[in-house]
Amino acid sequence: MQQLCFATNNKHKLAEVSRMLEGRYKLLSLQDIGCHEELPEEQDTLEGNSRQKAAYVWHHYKVSCFADDTGLEVEALQGTPGVYSARYAGPQRSDADNINLLLQNLHNQENRKARFRTSITLLLDGQEHQFEGIVNGTIATTWQGNLGFGYDPVFTPEGYNQTFTEMSADAKNAISHRGRAVQQLVAFLKEH
Ligand code: IMP
Repeated sequence: MQQLCFATNNKHKLAEVSRMLEGRYKLLSLQDIGCHEELPEEQDTLEGNSRQKAAYVWHHYKVSCFADDTGLEVEALQGTPGVYSARYAGPQRSDADNINLLLQNLHNQENRKARFRTSITLLLDGQEHQFEGIVNGTIATTWQGNLGFGYDPVFTPEGYNQTFTEMSADAKNAISHRGRAVQQLVAFLKEH
């Protein structure tokens, strides 16, 4: 079976994508290929960061691989925090601090439109392919629960009246930015 590295050590993301690939590729984590260093992520776009991470793995380990990068783009805040979503409130990368800063910056703001966007770069035998997944939605005015990941407690996807936090993992994955980008990647890999 052909091997493919997903440039992450997040076991949840690995399991999810492995399931979607239905055994066609053997997915390897960064740890599996002996990569223990932090991958560079110094670009100012999601596409640039996913490309930089995938290129690092390909050049240093010569393994076909893909990498993802995600950002929350808020209309009233001119598309920020975007590529800086994880570090919005500072280098401590605290989800709670990030959410509180976002709610503060949107205080009394009527336009609460936002979207999550994921870029995936695949380097298959050195050939680059990029995929994108988007989910549109709105930012709630207060925290709705405190479970989940990142901005989940304040992001309500379009067509729903629950935030990502309040949805099941399967329901979220079916419509999420990352789920949609991965669906495109998987469709491409099934043809190759
Ligand atoms: P990453 O590129 O997947 O590490 O995502 C960057 C940042 O975007 C994370 O630290 C979170 O703040 C946010 N983020 C990414 N995906 C999600 C999600 O599914 N729900 C909520 N926040 C997310």
